[in-house]
Amino acid sequence: MNPETLQALRGQLLRMREDLLERVRAQRGGTKSRVEAAAEHFEPDSVDDSPAQRETERETEFALEEHELAELSAIDAALARMDRGEYGTCIDCGVEIPAARLQAAPETPRCVACQEAYERRHGTRA
Ligand SMILES: [Zn+2]
Repeated sequence: MNPETLQALRGQLLRMREDLLERVRAQRGGTKSRVEAAAEHFEPDSVDDSPAQRETERETEFALEEHELAELSAIDAALARMDRGEYGTCIDCGVEIPAARLQAAPETPRCVACQEAYERRHGTRA
């Protein structure tokens, strides 16, 4: 993937992240939500595995904003893959994901075939 495309996709992901947090803030009428608290925990490169953090993660699993939380972690995982230089290849089979697919859904970690297989196994996108 060329650097311009990668840069554009990174911008797209960061905008999606902003929009997502903005949406959650609006729903909450300005109070700090669990998704925002989770956003702080999901910062790429943070590998804190303290009991307190595990507790928080268990709690957020059952949060109302389950959908937003899944979206946020997909976005952050994509940004983390960019930082590692792994972005754009399928996390399951390693093929290069077509740029058109990434432009439509920059957070996607899998090629179409693996995503379909994953959804069949788990009944979910996340
Ligand atoms: Zn694949």
